[in-house]
Amino acid sequence: MLSYRHSFHAGNAADVLKHMVFAWCAGYLTKKEKPLLCVDTHAGAGLYKLGGQNREWEGGFGRLKAAASGGRRIPAMAAFYLELAAASEGLYPGSPVIAAKLLRPRDRLVCFELHPADYELLKENLERLKLPGSGKGAPGIESLKADGPASLKSLLPPPSRRGLILVDPSWEEKNEFQTIPAALAEALRRFPQGTYIIWYPLLLMPKDTIKDAPEAEHSETLPETLLKLFPAGNCCIEFHTAPRSSAAFFPHTGTSPRGMYGSGLVVYNPPWTLKAALEEALPFLAEVLGSGDWRLEWK
Ligand code: SAM
Repeated sequence: MLSYRHSFHAGNAADVLKHMVFAWCAGYLTKKEKPLLCVDTHAGAGLYKLGGQNREWEGGFGRLKAAASGGRRIPAMAAFYLELAAASEGLYPGSPVIAAKLLRPRDRLVCFELHPADYELLKENLERLKLPGSGKGAPGIESLKADGPASLKSLLPPPSRRGLILVDPSWEEKNEFQTIPAALAEALRRFPQGTYIIWYPLLLMPKDTIKDAPEAEHSETLPETLLKLFPAGNCCIEFHTAPRSSAAFFPHTGTSPRGMYGSGLVVYNPPWTLKAALEEALPFLAEVLGSGDWRLEWK
């Protein structure tokens, strides 16, 4: 239970795609006057030092930064994300810090983190962060040591009826394959107008992996389960970092014991600008970071 530490993975290709999409949605939703509620159900520590035992970032953020400094034209979505990341004093910003940088003092950010050490780091990192115009501290930001998916419903619907919800579990606990869709179904019942972003891993089936991975079987049907929860307006983005048939995942770290060959995002009520931004960014990302395969389905 709670063995996962995001510091070993921060800035990898999956993080780059997720953070890019999350930042783009937050940027779009903060263009309107009305206050926004942003909820990060699995916040992590907020800021990460890259290097040390984390080599995965070299195949993600590292490659993207190298491509950008090589003078080539960068898609708008990647440029927006790189600009945010560059403003983090040499540390890599996780989702709560990305949100805090984009939200305005009238918005509210609620971050959940259960890991005791990561929760302390999150609190510290968010307290140090000053929102533009807020003067001191970070009003409008709360970090809670509580179960994010279970607590989500208590925040919905927000009074302004405007919300961005990031659901970013590691999907290492078997019961998450039931509890998270159930929490999302309840959240959508209360607040169907919100924009929701849900991250999931693409895992090889157990027969293909070097180690038994029972969660792989559940992960096969997960995107479909998530899309069925809100067929009214959604999109599904998948990005491969290795060919599905390959055993060499994350070439910079050796083989991933989880057999992860990529990752995906399901977005409910995606901003209309996201489609064109992704169509421009995904081929570029595939060339710079991945094995070349990506998928975008839009409803
Ligand atoms: N969203 C972060 C980012 O993009 O920077 C990364 C989050 S990491 C993938 C998942 C985090 O969720 C871990 O730090 C883990 O301790 C935490 N976690 C796991 N189960 C949780 C739960 N039920 N409620 C809140 N946090 C949880």
